[in-house]
Amino acid sequence: LSNRLNDPALFRTQSYIGGAWTGGETSFAVDNPANREKIADVSDVGEAGAQAAIAAASEALKVWRKTSPFERARVLLKWHQLIQDNTDDLATLITAEMGKPWREAKGEIAYGAGFVEWSAHEAARVHGETLPVPAPGARGWTIRQPVGVVSCITPWNFPAAMITRKAAPALAAGCPIVIKPAPETPLTALALAELADRAGFPDGVFNVICGDATKLGPVMTGAPEVRMIGFTGSTEIGKLLMRQAADGIKRVALELGGNAPFIVMDDADLDAAAAGVAQAKFRSGGQTCVSPNRIIVQASIADEFVSRLEAKISSVKAGDGFAEDSDIGPLIHDEAVARVDALVKKAVAGGARVVVGGQPLADELGGSFYAPTLIDGGNFDLEIARSEIFGPVASVYRAQNEDEILQLANDTPYGLAAYLYTRDIGRVHRMSEGLDYGMIGVNAPMVGSASTPFGGMKQSGIGREGGKWGVEEFTELKYVLLAGV
Ligand code: ADP
Repeated sequence: LSNRLNDPALFRTQSYIGGAWTGGETSFAVDNPANREKIADVSDVGEAGAQAAIAAASEALKVWRKTSPFERARVLLKWHQLIQDNTDDLATLITAEMGKPWREAKGEIAYGAGFVEWSAHEAARVHGETLPVPAPGARGWTIRQPVGVVSCITPWNFPAAMITRKAAPALAAGCPIVIKPAPETPLTALALAELADRAGFPDGVFNVICGDATKLGPVMTGAPEVRMIGFTGSTEIGKLLMRQAADGIKRVALELGGNAPFIVMDDADLDAAAAGVAQAKFRSGGQTCVSPNRIIVQASIADEFVSRLEAKISSVKAGDGFAEDSDIGPLIHDEAVARVDALVKKAVAGGARVVVGGQPLADELGGSFYAPTLIDGGNFDLEIARSEIFGPVASVYRAQNEDEILQLANDTPYGLAAYLYTRDIGRVHRMSEGLDYGMIGVNAPMVGSASTPFGGMKQSGIGREGGKWGVEEFTELKYVLLAGV
């Protein structure tokens, strides 16, 4: 794999702790899901590595919290520049270890780099306020300070962006970080660490540790020096980490699972809506927490909409992410293919119809592939409507009116992203107010950007990433009262 990189030094297999590359006693394999070939052995630094990283971060906190925000911004902007300059190599690592098409991986780097640039500028805008206070001759004001050492645990579906979206605002706010990437995608994370090293963060400010989550996780959540835990991943692990954080009353920022409704009303621009489904559904092969999970269409237009979707989805091509004509890559591994296939089979047994696709392509294409799929006529009790599909399967449901659609859309423990296609301004307001979701795309199939708040309600999470909110999450608000002026 290093031969494919313009800069082979970005290929790293050891952890980055306290400014030094550190190995471990054991290692784990990283595979390319498009062909199941091993591409790297990455060191597992174990509990001792996690402890060393936290110790280094605690030491670095003394320096980084007192570093001027302008200086913090300068280093972040350097990192941003280096990420941009190395876009092709970072995208190559993403495609090799995660599978998404190379041009989409480049898009992820642009998106992920955006958080670094935005956070750098935001560093200088963290400030307190003066307040009216009741006592005569007194003054009151607030200051915002870094919360302290932050542990971040990230998933494999956006190997770069899930790291920058947490690391950049934390660093901007003055918090050193210890990041544990997903075991499927450590190489992108370690390349980002190499670039952070070149950008010149002081030793210990930026740490990436790799290894067994069940060993590293408890240290990352339990160490008294850690004041906050940032996590993106499954709701199940989010709950576990929140329980672990409870012992130390640590702050948590959690981005968890979703069950996004994609609502198409009878007045919608159907071509735009069909294009929107295809775009939102097949990004990362459908393996994102904001992927449309339930396409809820007003019954009067449903047949017409399904035929437009059929035309769109029939032309989506699965293949190796390095091949130019691939629209979607493989799923992350064979278990993911088996899980998606089981959901589709159960839906069919429950009365749904496969319109396009509906089968694994693993044998044909030699990796963990599943066919881009459209199913129609399912009901809301099916497992495919209740759980996160996390694969390239679009499933259409019918409903009658606004009230019924809102009730169905909200009938889930999740509340991350929702999509609404309508041209009626009254509906836009009524329905966006009625949807219990943290982000709503109206006639828009993508909601995330560096300047806007990303996060969920209900069991989809706590906290917001992006915008000024993303940086504020990593600060403590302190109040000072001065008497006797
Ligand atoms: P997925 O099923 O999509 O892999 P997970 O929530 O299991 O989602 O994984 C997201 C991240 O959480 C990964 O970095 C993974 O290693 C980590 N993780 C999994 N189990 C634990 C655990 N017990 N403690 C800490 N982190 C964990």
